[in-house]
Amino acid sequence: MFKKILIANRGEIALRVQRACREMGIQAVVVYSEADREAKYVKLADEAVCIGPAPSGQSYLSMPAIISAAEVTDAEAIHPGYGFLSENADFAERVEKSGFVFIGPTPESIRLMGDKVSAKQAMQRAGVPTVPGSDGALPDDPAEIKRIARTIGYPVIIKAAGGGGGRGMRVVHTEAALLHAVQTTKSEAAAAFNNPEVYMEKFLQNPRHIEIQVLADQYRNAVHLFERDCSMQRRHQKVIEEAPAPGIPRRLIERIGDRCAAACKRMGYRGAGTFEFLYENGEFYFIEMNTRVQVEHPVTEMITGIDIVRTQIQIAAGQKLPFTQRQIQLRGHAIECRLNAEDPYKFTPSPGRITAWHAPGGPGVRVDSHIYSGYCVPPNYDSMIGKIIAYGDTREQALARMRGALAEVVIEGIKTNVPLHRELMVDANFEAGGTNIHYLESWLAQRERG
Ligand code: ADP
Repeated sequence: MFKKILIANRGEIALRVQRACREMGIQAVVVYSEADREAKYVKLADEAVCIGPAPSGQSYLSMPAIISAAEVTDAEAIHPGYGFLSENADFAERVEKSGFVFIGPTPESIRLMGDKVSAKQAMQRAGVPTVPGSDGALPDDPAEIKRIARTIGYPVIIKAAGGGGGRGMRVVHTEAALLHAVQTTKSEAAAAFNNPEVYMEKFLQNPRHIEIQVLADQYRNAVHLFERDCSMQRRHQKVIEEAPAPGIPRRLIERIGDRCAAACKRMGYRGAGTFEFLYENGEFYFIEMNTRVQVEHPVTEMITGIDIVRTQIQIAAGQKLPFTQRQIQLRGHAIECRLNAEDPYKFTPSPGRITAWHAPGGPGVRVDSHIYSGYCVPPNYDSMIGKIIAYGDTREQALARMRGALAEVVIEGIKTNVPLHRELMVDANFEAGGTNIHYLESWLAQRERG
């Protein structure tokens, strides 16, 4: 096992990885930008290295700065967390070339899955169902683009091959709007992702976002850890996640989960990963794979009792998966609410000093957050400041515990989306379970109209 790991990230996930290290007797090195000097995980770490100024381009995205931090601290492995460089194949390659272990898949896997067009093609080859759409990237010929859209049938969605974080997507309802939408998405994609390639998919009307968590070791053993339902989204960004997904027959989950595990074996995938699907009328359609730990991993940890971050580290150290598929049992239900420093109604970011913070607690309540009273949320990064996870024997109990946790929590000094979560936890449709990916947006629109 490693003696020392460098965590190339910030915020709650930097603390989460550090906790896994501590439990495993591994020393944790954190890197931080000047804006994160006061962060709790920086103070708690065994060693901390300042890697640059606040803008992430000069700190958390700076490969040379991170690799030299690993060199000067004698770390053996680098955990990338999520976001930042976690899905950057060049980074994974440079980490390994510099003699460190990258805690994640091979650069080849990251590259294959990082391009959504090649990822879809790989899934089709592995027998995983995908959303009907263009065969690969869209050609330049306008007549051909129109023909493809007609074959798929409107509405369609134009998506950037290199897209991520809910960006680089455009829904098209009519042929009149098609070519302009393709052009705009292309130029946006070129600017944002350095890759102008776009592809087309059928825009599904009422799907749910269901994803399968996988873990695979270096010896072609792979398992799935069931599903998460992440349908509660705003602007294609997840707000609430839960596991298991209400109302989906277990045999369908087992079947798609087995396919995902088989695809991992076939690809020689290693580490943690997530296959994202849209689910409609009893069918799963693959949309993309994330080759890293996800924000919402705790709900799966709660229902399986498996520590995903710990297992990532074990896999990277060359250990075999410590469990087989048959040993993985689903028990109870878990819900996660993402805490964002933002206006709960207008969604404008609300960075600044937290003057009071009282975390909720009690049976089945888990809080993954790096904030504390007096902490200043920097304006430079994502607005997510933590997650509350509630676990129960049943969904009803998990919901009741989440309501209790949200009633207890106090965050003063900045605005957060806690009031929004409080409302959603008593919404009759959410309570019933199984809302689709458009539900939250329409709920918000209705509230706006008053
Ligand atoms: P990203 O990598 O930016 O997260 P995804 O491909 O995972 O992009 O899609 C994010 C979200 O966008 C999905 O969860 C879903 O809400 C919506 N979406 C993507 N593709 C489609 C589609 N073909 N039909 C309907 N909604 C879609």
